[in-house]
Amino acid sequence: MENTPFYCQSCGVPLTTEDIKGTENNGQKTNDYCKYCYKDIHFKKPDMNLEQMKNTVKMHMEKKNLPNFMIQKAPNILPVLKRWKNIQFLI
Ligand SMILES: [Zn+2]
Repeated sequence: MENTPFYCQSCGVPLTTEDIKGTENNGQKTNDYCKYCYKDIHFKKPDMNLEQMKNTVKMHMEKKNLPNFMIQKAPNILPVLKRWKNIQFLI
């Protein structure tokens, strides 16, 4: 298999470049999260909930003028991502 792309496990953005990856404590890049969500082993917005993340993702996609069907679909993948997967059982 060719390079499997990693996706941010918080917002679902594809981690296609080193530059977009978030960082661990030692400054090392992580394959789990993007730099918009995660920096120095902390989430930038730790209090954010799934609904807020869905809205944020939509907003960013609308800004980029992405096709509407993509914008509608994108939030649906969020609940299976690592950051949200476990939380849902707690609610
Ligand atoms: Zn992210």
